[in-house]
Amino acid sequence: MKNSKLTDKFLLSMIILASNLNAQCPSPSSISKYAHKIKSYRSYPDLYGNQNRLNNLCLYQISFTENRLTWKMLLVINSKHPKGAFWYLPHDNENSAFDSAIYAIKKYGGGFLAVQSGGKRFFGYQDPNRNFGKDKKTSAMCKGQKYPSPIYTDTVFEIIDKFRSWGMPYLALHNNANGYSGNGGRGTISILKSSPHAKAFAAYKHISRTQGGLSDEDSMVYIAGKSSNPPMSKISQLHSLGLNVKYEWVDKKHYDCSMSNYVVLKKRTDNYYNIETQMGDSNIQKLMIDRLMKILY
Ligand SMILES: [Zn+2]
Repeated sequence: MKNSKLTDKFLLSMIILASNLNAQCPSPSSISKYAHKIKSYRSYPDLYGNQNRLNNLCLYQISFTENRLTWKMLLVINSKHPKGAFWYLPHDNENSAFDSAIYAIKKYGGGFLAVQSGGKRFFGYQDPNRNFGKDKKTSAMCKGQKYPSPIYTDTVFEIIDKFRSWGMPYLALHNNANGYSGNGGRGTISILKSSPHAKAFAAYKHISRTQGGLSDEDSMVYIAGKSSNPPMSKISQLHSLGLNVKYEWVDKKHYDCSMSNYVVLKKRTDNYYNIETQMGDSNIQKLMIDRLMKILY
């Protein structure tokens, strides 16, 4: 009798363990009316290239039509720890960011949403990171947005807010080209370049132009806020983690329909981080994620 009770207990614990290993993915309808489960990776080059890293991840396609564009996005969630940090990846040509996003959610839980535009920065005529203007008046202010986008904006933030744990910041991952035109580089972003609306705070005395690493001119964390005065305590906290920082001062007059502008002015929070590295520098981006996670978890 005693023995069979023990066997029952053992069997029960094995069943619980097995069901944890096969954690259920939420039904698409509970995520968004635009979500569908992905059955085959074949039409998703980003997934195909990462297929041996997709265990315990839930995969969905998000698809909707607005202004003659039928948007395609990939939603990837950690099935065991679906709540946590949640990342947005608007640019499909930035492949290291995709690699880093898989790393981040496997290690820390949560998920990410990545625009799928056939490996290009633009989705059709539209830059996905200049498409956060919901009405005509807002949209008219943004050089980079062609038409107002209530469906795009609400769907992206519906999904982000569903999986982002309370208190977690809005998070983005990007890659950029080396340097900037002012110093002979090909990119537009560098910690060596500063302007009133994007003030640079280097964490290192010697910034490397070509060597990669945390002190490379292309490795930085973007933060954003409504004040023209940069938040110095937040900047020194990031500096103590060895991270270069750019502070984006967001104001109504210069609204550009990017995610950071939307978060600061429409979501009314400065709890936002975007990790940037040079294209191909995925190892540095992963290291920067690990460093940032130290202050988020
Ligand atoms: Zn980008």
